[in-house]
Amino acid sequence: MEKCIVAVDVGGTNIASGLVKLDGTVIFRGKRPTCAGTGVNSILERIMSAVEEGLQEAKKLKLEPIGIGMGIPGVQDSLGGLSYSASNLDPGWINIKVPAIVGERFGLPAEMDNDVRCHALGEKLFGAGQGVENIILITLGTGIGSGIFLDGKMFYGSGSCGGEVGHITVMEDGPRCSCGNLGCVEALCGAPGISRRAREAIALGAESRIVQLVAGDLSQITPKVIYDAAVLDDELAQRIMDDTGKYIGIAMAGAVNIINPELLIVGGGVAAAGEMLIGKIRQEIKKRAMNKAGSQVRVVAAQLGEDAGLIGAAMLIPTRRID
Ligand SMILES: [Zn+2]
Repeated sequence: MEKCIVAVDVGGTNIASGLVKLDGTVIFRGKRPTCAGTGVNSILERIMSAVEEGLQEAKKLKLEPIGIGMGIPGVQDSLGGLSYSASNLDPGWINIKVPAIVGERFGLPAEMDNDVRCHALGEKLFGAGQGVENIILITLGTGIGSGIFLDGKMFYGSGSCGGEVGHITVMEDGPRCSCGNLGCVEALCGAPGISRRAREAIALGAESRIVQLVAGDLSQITPKVIYDAAVLDDELAQRIMDDTGKYIGIAMAGAVNIINPELLIVGGGVAAAGEMLIGKIRQEIKKRAMNKAGSQVRVVAAQLGEDAGLIGAAMLIPTRRID
């Protein structure tokens, strides 16, 4: 029987799940709401039901499941299998041994890592990062997540919470970040930060087609709306997009100086803005990073889209459990 891995990618809104073959092919996809905030047991049961669905599908397809790989948000001792906290899942989500709980229920090896590290692993093995040893991957969404490979190995740091380039300060007295700091690049360039900068400029009197695109309801401004207005040559929208690329580029220039990567992979929903954003990030890095490191790094879009997290979660099993 051909082998497969049951993969689960847990987000604040949805739990994506599926079956992944060892060659990275996703052969089944499932989705259910996370129901964040409904309690730890409720969310764990939803993860279990995603795994159960995958196992039943494997049976139908006559595949042999060899393990369960999970991408879980928040702070964790990934290798030790302990999820310290995941505030976007539940405030009571404290010190949960997710792989032990899920693995025991199904009698299969189970592994977890941070959801964005899984995303990075997927892109390294089967996407934009194939064959590359030193990589920074960032995901631009509600937050700015990251995963870093150094000399071919995933970087964790002493407490498993290293590599968070989304929390590099780019504005001394900037907006408050979810981490508590002021002016992190995530506070400015996470989706809420991008939208807020547009709203604030409009409130101060800037004219913009953004207002028409949301029919006057400024609470409806999203990065997608700003992007659409920028494509229509709207000056404010273009400035917001430029500033977004600039702030991200400032943070990444610092990271590039430290790590000297071959590749910076840009993924996540906001990265759908494509070259408008990635080009500006590239330009800012070239401008600011030290000569050699700045000229060596290639800044590219992620290739696997939403599957990256699922594929990477699955690959925790062969990379950790099979020599
Ligand atoms: Zn922060």
